Amino acid sequence: MRTALLAILLLFSLTSCQQSTTTDNEGNTEQAVNKNEPNDKEIVCFVYHRFGDNRYPSTNISLQDFEAHLQYLKEKDYQVLSFSEAVKYLKSEVETQKTAVITIDDGYKSFFKNCLPMLKKYGFPSTLFINTKTVGGGDYMSWEEIKIAMGDNVEIGNHTHSHDYFLNLPETSRYETFEEDIMLSQQLIQENTGFTPEVLAYPYGELDPKMKAIVQKIGFAGAAAQNSGVIYSGTDLMQCPRFPMSEAYADINKFTSKAMMRALKIKNVSPDSFIVPKDDSKPQLSITVNSKGLQLDRLQCFIQRAECQINKSVSENGEAVITLSPASDIDIRRRTLYTITVPDTTGTWRWFSHLFINPEIR
Ligand SMILES: [Zn+2]
Repeated sequence: MRTALLAILLLFSLTSCQQSTTTDNEGNTEQAVNKNEPNDKEIVCFVYHRFGDNRYPSTNISLQDFEAHLQYLKEKDYQVLSFSEAVKYLKSEVETQKTAVITIDDGYKSFFKNCLPMLKKYGFPSTLFINTKTVGGGDYMSWEEIKIAMGDNVEIGNHTHSHDYFLNLPETSRYETFEEDIMLSQQLIQENTGFTPEVLAYPYGELDPKMKAIVQKIGFAGAAAQNSGVIYSGTDLMQCPRFPMSEAYADINKFTSKAMMRALKIKNVSPDSFIVPKDDSKPQLSITVNSKGLQLDRLQCFIQRAECQINKSVSENGEAVITLSPASDIDIRRRTLYTITVPDTTGTWRWFSHLFINPEIR
């Protein structure tokens, strides 16, 4: 079924797609989508945690910044969908529109108190991924509040029950525990709200290929990771990228550049898994793309806390293999993001990122 779907999507992607750009008065280039290309659908998905709660700057956004995001989406006429609606839109043949998704992880009270009223004011839906173990405790929303939010156009998603670091478990118990934890969360959400989530977000954006297969087997329509990027028809729906929006990355200019970002469409990525290969302190990442339509000479790469070295080779058929390697060891931190941005020939920037996780680092 999945192979058939991929084949269809691949067929679609063989037809050429045109896009043009316009420039706004701040000098920002605004993307214009081709409305008649079903394969050209792209979705920018944002992830937020806390709102107007500056005790935790790394996961918080100020209310002024957040409102500026909503205002931008409104003014620029974005279609804002819940995460599950976005997955349906991506697979549909409806007209292509600029599309954004607002997701919120963890279900903190500051979402209910500060974010929900703003979403209501702008009439935007959102998806709230809750970890059921903490519902009603400390800083977390209660079931009553969750039900009120649901009545206000908030989709509830599964964020597991325990919000554990599942990659820390030995493989002998990891997958059984992960599945049980998700199913317990599904059950509690169903019992307390009458709703069964269709989408999931991995805690900390951490997953391995077998965890992903479990999420697919359970039947979720889509699952959100936490590496940045744009969702498009070639995205693995069990591993959808999202742009994190917290104080350091959330001013309106940074938000605008992410909202206008397009996907760098990848033919192949190696390694496919997020897990750092054993005993490799300088893991390489290789991607294969069609170089036609891209300004590969302007390609940029970023590796967190390491210099990024790029190797490019383009074959006669236009296929480019781009290999990124860190100039220094990355085994000092658990998660390291590798990011590639490259403008296409219209000047629109395209983005791809890959997260390397080293579960040995706690
Ligand atoms: Zn979380």
